[in-house]
Amino acid sequence: MSTISELQRKLNYDETFNCVQCGYCLPACPTYETMKIESHSPRGRINLVKMLAEDKITIEDLREPIGKCLGCRACVTVCPTNVQYGKILEGAKEVLEESAEKTKKQKITENIIFDKVFPSKKWMDFIGNATWLYQKSGLQQITQKTGITRMLPFQLGNFESVISDITSPLSRKKMSRHYPVKGTKKMTVGFVTGCVMDAIFQNINKKTIDLLTLAGAEVIIPEAQTCCGALHAHAGKMDSAKKLAKINIEAFEIENVDYIVNNAGGCGATLIEYDHLFYNEEGWHKRAENFVNKIRDISEILCELDGINFTKEMNSIVTYQSSCHMAHVQKVIEEPLFLLNQVPGILYQEMKDYNRCCGSAGIYNLVNYEESMDILDLKMEKAKDTKASIIVTTNPGCLLQMKLGIKREGLEDRIRAIHLVELLVEAGAVSK
Ligand code: SF4
Ligand code: SF4
Repeated sequence: MSTISELQRKLNYDETFNCVQCGYCLPACPTYETMKIESHSPRGRINLVKMLAEDKITIEDLREPIGKCLGCRACVTVCPTNVQYGKILEGAKEVLEESAEKTKKQKITENIIFDKVFPSKKWMDFIGNATWLYQKSGLQQITQKTGITRMLPFQLGNFESVISDITSPLSRKKMSRHYPVKGTKKMTVGFVTGCVMDAIFQNINKKTIDLLTLAGAEVIIPEAQTCCGALHAHAGKMDSAKKLAKINIEAFEIENVDYIVNNAGGCGATLIEYDHLFYNEEGWHKRAENFVNKIRDISEILCELDGINFTKEMNSIVTYQSSCHMAHVQKVIEEPLFLLNQVPGILYQEMKDYNRCCGSAGIYNLVNYEESMDILDLKMEKAKDTKASIIVTTNPGCLLQMKLGIKREGLEDRIRAIHLVELLVEAGAVSK
């Protein structure tokens, strides 16, 4: 049992005083937009955290409002007093996780998923290969026809139906640890393969490496790297997140690269805040800062390299759904738009609130499916208004969510969702 002062430190109580209750953040908050309840707004959540720190409410009073927060940080971008809501949210999640009553079975299952499966390349390769077999053997068609997928937990059946073709096990085996540059060498980068990206979206990883080498970067893939820890941090499992962060910091330190590149907005947002995890560990904090200073999204590096031309006309109306973590945590906003506008034959149509969360938010759409779909339905209305035939995203979760949105609208024959790097490769990227 924490003392009040311990609880206040964990909850970042001091930070809550920076909120002046102005309410500017309310219109920016997707959960306030759909739920219209103060307790599900940034201001409401900050007040509840403050009240818990002052022993005026119980931990259980906080569980639902914090559990329904997307962690998208749109509130931070608009806040005039720069309230660090991310810190308040992380503290609240840690406190909630520590106090959660779980059965032995739940604890064992969570430990296996968070500490054994996500950090293990072997496990993630196995999941990727098993999904490939499921798609190619005809089993997927059978399960979909018979409706068995509807019985899967967490609405997984809906997401399973929108996963693109997975890399074959043979192709997966052929992945190298070093990719030499194809044009003139301008820099050396380390590439963060990610856990879900590597298992389910390895095709996008390969295309990312192709673009980097074409543009002038030698690519190193450190063998020892692991899951970034985003899902662990979102779940309040900060000790596990720190363990993974240490492994990644060491893995990339050895390679001594110019930049550390990722292609998943959610992972990038976690990687770029590794220093926050070690605020009270001086040695690791310094190493984390060095790591953070090298973190870049693929779009930033491609803009800096300026080494690609495009050889095909896309002849399409294209819109962009930003990863909220990329926009509001990494603050990468202009670069994807700059690259899109380089592609011949694209008519770019801005989607209203394109930096607003689509409802994916890590595993939010699995654990809060109904709320996530309310947010997605609003998003799809805005996407349809653009008349675009291609929705470009920059994060695997957003990609699946947009595909699901297209399916829910019955627009699969008119609109498709793809990752930015897929579009750039499709546009015939070559070295300048
Ligand atoms: S915008 Fe900032 S200061 Fe204003 S209510 Fe929201 S968090 Fe508080
Ligand atoms: S992180 Fe996103 S969902 Fe959570 S309070 Fe801020 S704007 Fe709302």
